[in-house]
Amino acid sequence: MSLPFDTAAIPAERLPELLGIMPKAELHMHIEGSLEPELIFALAQRNGVTIPYASVEELRKAYAFTNLQSFLDIYYAGASVLLTEQDFYDMAWAYLQRAAADNVRRAEMFFDPQTHTERGVSMATVIGGLHRACVDAKTALGVDAALILCFLRHLSEESAFETLEQALPFRDQFIGVGLDSSEVGHPPEKFARVFARCRELGLHLVAHAGEEGPPAYVWSALDVLKVERIDHGVQSTKDPALMKRLAADRIPLTVCPLSNLKLCVFPQLSQHNLGQLLDAGLIATVNSDDPAYFGGYMNENFLQTFAATGLDAKQAWQLAANSFEGSFADVAAKKQWRDELAHCFASFR
Ligand SMILES: [Zn+2]
Repeated sequence: MSLPFDTAAIPAERLPELLGIMPKAELHMHIEGSLEPELIFALAQRNGVTIPYASVEELRKAYAFTNLQSFLDIYYAGASVLLTEQDFYDMAWAYLQRAAADNVRRAEMFFDPQTHTERGVSMATVIGGLHRACVDAKTALGVDAALILCFLRHLSEESAFETLEQALPFRDQFIGVGLDSSEVGHPPEKFARVFARCRELGLHLVAHAGEEGPPAYVWSALDVLKVERIDHGVQSTKDPALMKRLAADRIPLTVCPLSNLKLCVFPQLSQHNLGQLLDAGLIATVNSDDPAYFGGYMNENFLQTFAATGLDAKQAWQLAANSFEGSFADVAAKKQWRDELAHCFASFR
């Protein structure tokens, strides 16, 4: 593709600055995974909730995971401090401020209602606080934010159906549904009927697949759930036919490099396959997943990944362009961001 600017003229030592200032979209982040230890402690105190860590420092030290499950155990403990509508607002607002500082123009945030409704917190409380933060972000921060409701795949499809029913009164406050939590042993087809129902309702569909699970899970997310995006999908490189399918159908992959490193999906960041995904023509994007737990928000993911893998300025542009293309924003907004991105690169000296 020919670009209206010369990326080869951008020296490698200026690349970190460009990665920071370029406009971008974040398509894969779990709002509960943005809870910093300081906010967990503040909310625990405000709500009189006891958590099994003596201090902010002790909690931060516990963030040394060996796999997805060991992370999820701490993640659910952290979420237990969220009780009121204001708590959900404060959590989302803290993230959206961080996103704005990283020049994120569009944020599609996952939330896990079952983590809260199982504790007796109402759907109205959860969605109400998150949605109010999204509305305020548009005017106060210039971030276009939207919500995607995720079903926890380690729970039953029946529970997912109940969650959907509880959320339908707030249908205008979220744009789609996803599938997250423990992947292995919980293949996408377990949720075939609830995704079919969501499709009838006109909701956007995404699913985590091919993070730790096999390429077969990516195939069934596409063919059984009929998702529009694959969250993670990094295991797809093991299956050439799947790579062809993802490229041909322009299915975006929401890749999360620091998450993959922290959860040992790749032993080192230098071995990450993001460059391979881009070379194969896939709509790969960079995202932070659970930024408070995995050591970095959007720009940190870009900076560390580029430093470790040697990706260049053209690939930076491609990743930002992919993030807008892969978003569920309207056509006019996508064009505006693409123009802004081109201007950012063209005027970078
Ligand atoms: Zn995720």
